[in-house]
Amino acid sequence: MTIRIAVPNKGRLAEATVDLFAKAGIRLEGASERRLISKALDGRFTILFVRAQDIAEFVDDGVADVGITGRDLLMEASRPIDELLDLGYGRCRLSVAVPNESPVKSVRDIPKGARIASSFPKLTQSFFRGHGNDVRVVEVSGATEITPHIGVADAIVDLVSSGSTLAMNHLREVEVILQSSARLVANRAAVADPKRAYEIRDLTFALSSVVAARGKRYLMANVPRGKLDQVRKIIPGISGPTIMELVSHGDMVAAHAVIDEGGIYETVNQLKQIGATGILVLPIERLVS
Ligand code: AMP
Repeated sequence: MTIRIAVPNKGRLAEATVDLFAKAGIRLEGASERRLISKALDGRFTILFVRAQDIAEFVDDGVADVGITGRDLLMEASRPIDELLDLGYGRCRLSVAVPNESPVKSVRDIPKGARIASSFPKLTQSFFRGHGNDVRVVEVSGATEITPHIGVADAIVDLVSSGSTLAMNHLREVEVILQSSARLVANRAAVADPKRAYEIRDLTFALSSVVAARGKRYLMANVPRGKLDQVRKIIPGISGPTIMELVSHGDMVAAHAVIDEGGIYETVNQLKQIGATGILVLPIERLVS
């Protein structure tokens, strides 16, 4: 039994997805050679490299058992599929934006029946319907930001990440419709089939351990035996630091713990202050707790 996995073949999610699988021990061969289909992990998985926009459909139709795509695209496709995991990368928001010089301050100021350009026509229509405004959606498949300046639309609904594309195109964000990031999704029949469900659970578990390790580091240090109370406070770890005897140092012990990347600077300084030596900070690829 091979599990078919649909992964984005290009765009913002493609590279991060290959990296995610690599960290989980699954090499996606052919991703860089523009292959359409390949095997991974000795045939346990069949990888389908497809457009992120098509993945919800492929998973719903059963062409793929599982897939990885953005929440924005899942919401637009509105297919009955199961979301298994938030993968944390590809973060962006779907927002309404107007030209800088527009008097519009909030979506309520957008006139009835205004023209809104978007490559998310369904989400756009339903968002404005929710505000009692039956706007005219101008469906585009790219370069949405230019439409207000060439007289095609009055406002746009587009993905925003850093906001620099909007700024460059003299557009101002007025409201966020939804927040998005990459998700692992599954076909409902596949999840209901015991054989495939077993494999899908293992895959979900493997990918979630990579997600859990993000932003974490492994810290090792030799610390004075008499300062263990302070060590516990400085590196509480997940379930307390691991303390180990050092063969040749009666007054020192080794302390190991998982720490947050953001706090490394402070943590290392505090350990040095209590006399720690041999401090090492290592990357973690997977965290299974
Ligand atoms: P930025 O200039 O960083 O705000 O990025 C905005 C541009 O990148 C827009 O053209 C978006 O369509 C695109 N974009 C931003 N984030 C994503 C994402 N997570 N997935 C796909 N496209 C994105």
